[in-house]
This record gives sequence, structure tokens and C-alpha cells, in this order.
Amino acid sequence: MEILYPDTVEGVMDALAAARLSRTPIHPVSTDRNWGYRSEHTTQGLVLNLSRLNRIRNAQEISARQPVAVIEPGVTQGQLADFLAQHHPGLTFNITGSARETSILGNALDRGVGYRGPKREDLFGLEVITGSGERIFTGFRRLGSESPIAHAHRYGLGPELDGLFFQGNFGIVVSACLRLLPRPPCERAVSLSLRRPQDLGDLLDALIAVRRDGLVSSVTHVGNRARTHSSLARGLHQALMKEGLESHEAQKDAASILQTRFRSSWSALLSISGHERDTRARIKEIRARTAPWADVQVVSPGLLDAADRMLALWPGRAPRKLMQLRALLAAIKPLNGLALGKPTDEPVRNLLWMAGQHGYPVEEFGQSDVGILYISPALPLEGRLVQDFVTRWSGIVQAHGLEFYVTLNIESENSMVAIMNLLFKKSQIKDAIRARRCAEELYADIRRLGLEVYRARDDMMNLVTDPDDPYWKTVEQLKQVFDPDKIISPGRYNLA
Ligand SMILES: Cc1cc2nc3c(=O)[nH]c(=O)nc-3n(C[C@H](O)[C@H](O)[C@H](O)COP(=O)(O)OP(=O)(O)OC[C@H]3O[C@@H](n4cnc5c(N)ncnc54)[C@H](O)[C@@H]3O)c2cc1C
Repeated sequence: MEILYPDTVEGVMDALAAARLSRTPIHPVSTDRNWGYRSEHTTQGLVLNLSRLNRIRNAQEISARQPVAVIEPGVTQGQLADFLAQHHPGLTFNITGSARETSILGNALDRGVGYRGPKREDLFGLEVITGSGERIFTGFRRLGSESPIAHAHRYGLGPELDGLFFQGNFGIVVSACLRLLPRPPCERAVSLSLRRPQDLGDLLDALIAVRRDGLVSSVTHVGNRARTHSSLARGLHQALMKEGLESHEAQKDAASILQTRFRSSWSALLSISGHERDTRARIKEIRARTAPWADVQVVSPGLLDAADRMLALWPGRAPRKLMQLRALLAAIKPLNGLALGKPTDEPVRNLLWMAGQHGYPVEEFGQSDVGILYISPALPLEGRLVQDFVTRWSGIVQAHGLEFYVTLNIESENSMVAIMNLLFKKSQIKDAIRARRCAEELYADIRRLGLEVYRARDDMMNLVTDPDDPYWKTVEQLKQVFDPDKIISPGRYNLA
């Protein structure tokens, strides 16, 4: 499939005009790293890769009083995090667990979820080239960049068009306003370990109440043991090798650390921020409310650094227990960093390492041998019910002979999503087919339960739509308005 890399908005408009003339479908992507949701480009047409449109357009105007960045699709998490660290250390933004070189816009346009919540809520004031070649600005950006409210007021006047361009195929977004967040004076990552698997529903209900009562403002990630172990195994192994252990010894020690310290069937990670006293009071409250079911640990970056420095003082080769402790700190640091707004490549590296592709370039993860399929149902905030669903889905995955990896993300006061992922090696054709069948079965079960995924993989687009449903009929009519030639990602929703 041909890939075009325009580096100006005019280049995007020209590419679209040429595609319309020749009736060639065009698939806009930002950095094209929608791993787990995007299969290889098998559809007809062109990919319009916007990674070279990578300017922070208002870099000079950003400040604590104007905490909004006008970004293009190629601006990555790493790029913006580095820019803010250098120029505005008091500001941060909602990051995801994907790699540093993934697009902020691309993720948000697919309605991805960051550590602070759904990314949809971070974007407004879109600049869009619609399928009919029109260049439109939503909200008050239509008033022009000289207007003092162009980048400040998120809704504008009249119907809000923004929503049409999220998980839509009506236009190509070439820039948008991104909400930046003040870095709180005090941030703590809090982790909880469930004592008895049968109490998952109760712990979820306690964490939901904690969220509803405003004690925590980040997403609460509740991961099963397979998921927790997979996030830590590589970090432990690498750190133990740095301590001087041979690879096989490091592997053994890493396994023993995971077995002894991460025995729990479910662990939760969340972050608490605010002023020091307020943060301490909230942690105390969370501890009290979850005490019947979970053990709580609080980790601050300062504490990790201090422990690191202290342990580094050991002269000569350290005893095994000390090595293990140092390795543990090294492995959890980047993951806690995520909860505190620091993007990292570690989760992607972990997957490469698990597949025996240690050292493979993270940015090219999509071409590696790691096959990954995400199945991400939206769920109600009801602990017991969610526990039942997860037990069912775990059964389905195990019946296919696969490992069940899942995190339950309490992402707002009203909703939760489960992120299930199936892993396989692409080179093992039988495994790939098995994973795909399992994904299909999971999706069928999700629908049977009256649920739906919050975000669909491109290979499931024909399953999510129903041409008889008035909702999808209206979507089809809107497509006629914005993209009458059906040039932009025509297969995205398989409508007539
Ligand atoms: C280990 C790991 C961890 C991950 N963690 C997370 C996570 O925490 N949260 C999360 O949400 N995802 C996560 N992902 C999934 C994925 O990697 C990210 O969502 C990633 O940011 C998406 O890739 P991208 O930014 O390059 O988007 P792209 O691939 O560029 O875009 C995604 C889709 O959005 C649409 N689109 C993109 N740009 C435009 C545009 N300019 N105009 C119109 N439409 C457009 C297209 O349909 C495109 O296919 C993870 C994946 C892995 C492997």
C-alpha cells in the first residue's frame, strides 16, 4: 500500500484533492502506531501519514495562564513532554501507556484513554480538512488565531461539530487545541494488592466510591496477575543483569521476586495529587476504605530516588537480597512514572522482550513478531457484575489455550473499561488464527451481554455497525455531507 507523508496543511489538501480525482480511498493516520487496534494495511488505497506535521504551533504563547497547546498530528507524547519539561516544568498533560513516539492527536481521535482519563476530553478547536476538501475550524478557532478566545473557549457557539471527527471518517484533522494541566505540588502513586480473589467486586466498589467522592482524579488501573507480571518481568531481569547476574540467574531471581512480592491476583495503581496535607489525608481515607480487602503501598518519586541512592552506597558486589531490592525499584520506577505523567517506552519493550525480540526498535513495534489484539468493552461501575464478566472472559480465553491479560480502568465517575489483550507470535500462523478466533468469541459474548467495545479494531468494523439501526443510518447520511465521494477511510464503518 502506498504511503504519503505530507509536511504542510496544503500538502494534505493536495493529496486529498488528487485522491478525490482518481477516486482512491485515503486513510489518514497521525503516527500510525495504533498497535492492538490496527491490523496491517490490507485495504485498498493510500495511507496519509501525518507524522511530518509535527509543530507545536503556539509554542511561544504557552504559559501557566494559557495552558493550551495547539498541536499537529505528528506531535508525539515524548516531544510534548520534553518541550514542557524544558520550557514549562509546571505544566503536564494526560499521557497514555503507549510509546513516547505515539501521536497525542492520533490517540485522542481514536478516543484513547490516558492516565488522567479519556483523551477525548483534552481536545477542542479542531482544524479539519473534510472529505469534500473544505478547511474548517471548530469552536471559536473559527474566529482566527488573533481572537483572544480562539484557544480558550472549548465549545464555541452552535452545534458542536468536534465529536464527528473522533472515531469518525468525515475529515482529516490537521491541528487541535490540547488542554495542558498544572503539575500539582505533590503527587503520589498508590498501589493496592487484593488479598482474596473472590473480593475483587468489593474492592472495585470501594475504588469506584473513592473516585466518585473525588479522592482520586486519575484513572484507577486494576490489573490481573498476568498483566502485572508481564509489566515487571523484563525490568527485573534487566536490572538483575546490571547487578552482575547471568541471564539464567536473573530470570530465576525475577520469577522469585514476582512470586513472592506480586502474589496478589489483582493489583491496582492510581495517583493522588494536590497539596501535601490534602494528599496525605486522601491516602489515609483510601487506606481505611480499602483495608478490608487490600494492602496499600504509597510510592513517591522522591522516596524511590532516596532508596536508590541509599542502596547504591553498598561497597562492592551487593548481597543477593539487596540486588533484588534494587532491581525491584528499577523495575517499578518507570511504571510509577506513568501514573505521574512521564511517558515511557517500557510497556512496549516488555512485549518485545516477552516475544524474544529484546532490542527491536520500539517505534517499529508494528513490524515486529509481536501480535496483539485489544478487546476493550465499556462497563458499568458495578463491582460484582464486572467480576462476573471478567470470570466469564477469562474462561473463554483459557479455553483457547491463551493467557488472559486484563486491566480494569475506572476512567471517570460514570464508566469503566476493561482492556483485554491477546498476545501471539505473528510468525506462528496457528497461534495467530487462534487469537483471532478467541477475539471474535469474546466480542460475540460482549454483545450477548448487551455491552459494546468503546473502541473497535479495524478488523471488527463490519461487526460494529448495523445498517438497519437509525443511528448508523444517520452516520451514513453525515458521511454523504462531509465526504460525498467516500474517499476517507471508507471501510472504517462498513456501511452500504
Ligand atoms: C504496550 C501498549 C500500551 C498502550 N497503551 C495505551 C494506552 O494507555 N491508552 C490508549 O489509548 N492506547 C494505548 N495503546 C494503543 C496505541 O498504541 C495508542 O493508542 C497509540 O497512541 C495510537 O497510535 P497513534 O497515536 O500513532 O495513532 P494513529 O495510528 O495515528 O491513529 C489512530 C486512528 O485515529 C484516526 N486518526 C489518526 N490521526 C488522524 C487524523 N489526523 N485525522 C483523522 N483521523 C485520524 C485513524 O483512524 C487512525 O487509524 C497501547 C498499545 C500498546 C502496544
